[in-house]
Amino acid sequence: KAQQASPAPPPPAEEEKVVEEVVEVQEEDPREHLNVVFIGHVDAGKSTLSGNILYLTGYVDKRTIEKYEREAKQRNRESWFLAFIMDTNEEERAKGKTVEVGRAPFETEAKRYTILDAPGHKNYVPHMISGAAQADVGILVISARRGEFETGFERGGQTREHAMLCKTLGVRFLIVVINKMDDPTVKWQRERFDECVSKLKPFLKTCGYIIKKEVRFIPISGLTGANVLKEVDSKACKWWDACSKEGHPISSEKTLLEMLDKLQIEGRDANAPLRIPLLDRYHDRGCMTMGKVEAGRVRKGDKVIIMPTKTETTVEGIFVNDTVPIVSAKPGENVHIKLGNNVNIDDICKGFVLCKQPPCRAVLSFTAQLALVDLLEHKPIVTAGYECMLHAHTVESEVVVDKIIEQINIKLKPGQPKPRVLPYAKQGAVILCTMTVPQTICLEPFEDLQQLGRFTLRDEGKSIAIGKVVALE
Ligand code: GDP
Repeated sequence: KAQQASPAPPPPAEEEKVVEEVVEVQEEDPREHLNVVFIGHVDAGKSTLSGNILYLTGYVDKRTIEKYEREAKQRNRESWFLAFIMDTNEEERAKGKTVEVGRAPFETEAKRYTILDAPGHKNYVPHMISGAAQADVGILVISARRGEFETGFERGGQTREHAMLCKTLGVRFLIVVINKMDDPTVKWQRERFDECVSKLKPFLKTCGYIIKKEVRFIPISGLTGANVLKEVDSKACKWWDACSKEGHPISSEKTLLEMLDKLQIEGRDANAPLRIPLLDRYHDRGCMTMGKVEAGRVRKGDKVIIMPTKTETTVEGIFVNDTVPIVSAKPGENVHIKLGNNVNIDDICKGFVLCKQPPCRAVLSFTAQLALVDLLEHKPIVTAGYECMLHAHTVESEVVVDKIIEQINIKLKPGQPKPRVLPYAKQGAVILCTMTVPQTICLEPFEDLQQLGRFTLRDEGKSIAIGKVVALE
């Protein structure tokens, strides 16, 4: 890795006696960075798998694992020790559930990754949304254990909603891991793997995924690590090795990490104007903020504008993995940024966007294309005046539908005139409408920058529609 020492700090003035640390400032890492989100029904094995990936790639050492193993044992949750790596706060451990989106970095020779561990419980879908909105790859964890696959996949199970949200939030790739293949009810049987895959495929298609191009399937055991970094022992599973040699119809890669390393992420433009939707801010010897670079490149010393407030400031420092200083960051990086002294943490909110010229737009109303999802449980009737919550990049806001302009997805016979526009729309409809938010938010037309131009609408705690920004007022 190319490294460069930071220039020596100027000698501190006599009275101040500031002790400046000399830190190695790294140049930009040429490897691509991917955010990986784990999704799926509660107990499918998301935390166990993510914990094991960190262990197998050397990001958690044996002693930490042993400590977690002991703690898990004390709580009579022995098999959950890997999950303990991701679920680090006390409240979560006691419950054995992941509440916030956990983050952990790991790397291979080919790429660098950050795991975002999204919670599977119904009430935590908004966390899952903020995780998925930053993700490049979704790993949909499916339990192959008898009964568990079925429960997760039923209406009310989270498998459907999560896969749907991932697609709508712009997660381009989905790796479907058929997990718990080691379980005594499964024993690495090919029939069970095929059964799960054949039930999932039609559903993933209806979510909008193009199966061969955007979806991969792989049988694994997150608990034993089989097919995670190393291929499953051929004594336990004869068919997988044969499959990958023959060129498997759904995957030619043998392990999960091989699949991740080979993914090609398109559409990252380092020459576009800078856009970093902000996730949070905090105080650490100045105002710090964090987010993922969605477009453009940010360099130390850059003049930047915070939208929608148009606050101008400078980039005083850039950090990855919380504390490692770097000189510049390209699209795909999760960064922490130290801002100039003129900015206070109260000047920053989740949902603001850090930009370079020209800044993104900040609007109160916009025209959008809405698709009213019919796979989900909640099926409202949308009319003018309909109010709900909008989730776009890192922003959440109330929103009102002002006017339905057109129903888009109606099939007309040749020569048949367009019917009158109905004043309401139901599940399955795709409409063009105008929408208003109570306070300005940052958006871009979907055509210009997808990450800032797509959104999800939620009502009564359920996802009801997905949308694209067509035009800004
Ligand atoms: P999460 O809710 O999706 O994060 O699921 P956890 O990782 O907490 O796992 C739920 C339960 O499934 C725990 O008891 C795990 O030990 C078990 N589990 C997870 N992965 C595997 C696996 O690959 N094989 C087996 N047999 N059990 C697993």
